[in-house]
Amino acid sequence: MQKRLRIPEELRVSGMTPLTTIDFPDHLACVLYTQGCPLRCRYCHNPQLIPFGDQPGSISWPEIEEFLHRRQGLLEAVVFSGGEPTLQPALAAAMAAVRELGFKVGLHTAGVSPERLAQLLPLVDWVGLDVKAPYQRYPQVTGRNHQAQQNRNSLELLLDSGIPFECRTTVDWRLFPPDELHDLACQLADLGVEHYAVQINQARNCLDPALEQMVTLPTEQLANLRDRLDELFPVFVWRE
Ligand code: SF4
Repeated sequence: MQKRLRIPEELRVSGMTPLTTIDFPDHLACVLYTQGCPLRCRYCHNPQLIPFGDQPGSISWPEIEEFLHRRQGLLEAVVFSGGEPTLQPALAAAMAAVRELGFKVGLHTAGVSPERLAQLLPLVDWVGLDVKAPYQRYPQVTGRNHQAQQNRNSLELLLDSGIPFECRTTVDWRLFPPDELHDLACQLADLGVEHYAVQINQARNCLDPALEQMVTLPTEQLANLRDRLDELFPVFVWRE
């Protein structure tokens, strides 16, 4: 049977940031948040984006296209985020349409499907890959089994692709301790990751209400950890 061609109108988009300077390095971008995610990260602060459902997204493709036409020459890139955008069957069509309009394409993904990522990479200019947890902690942090290996395979694809990317890990010290974060960072550096970011869970609107209260480490311990992580990568960012 012939494969049905997807069209960008089928992309389910449930939110948009019209202008950002932090979601695609060194570019003015907008972010489109797609609906649906297979993970259940306990700190997820966009739990409304998790259900896939079968309804159209709240922002239609014609609305997005109209917005992008008005921003030509002003915005440089469009970032597809989520949810988990790579599981949207229409993502490749939407990326191609965005490129056609003259924008670069960014992708935020948790690397849940290396197969889908491999299909999309030719259409992508920059990737932010979430590495959710140290390998052994993945089920506990994401609520899903078998995702650690999927993520590792996605990372290897990215390393082989030559496409610029950043790995990022959101941290809540109740989910894994600083030494395990350091071990994870060492593994990533050994694999060849050059850009790494640590993002502290802001403990707002978390999927798991038990994480709603922010926890921190003693200042000296944090500073020491930051220094040790910073030594590992050409580019290291600590986001709070
Ligand atoms: S934080 Fe986790 S559960 Fe929430 S959208 Fe991102 S990958 Fe999905």
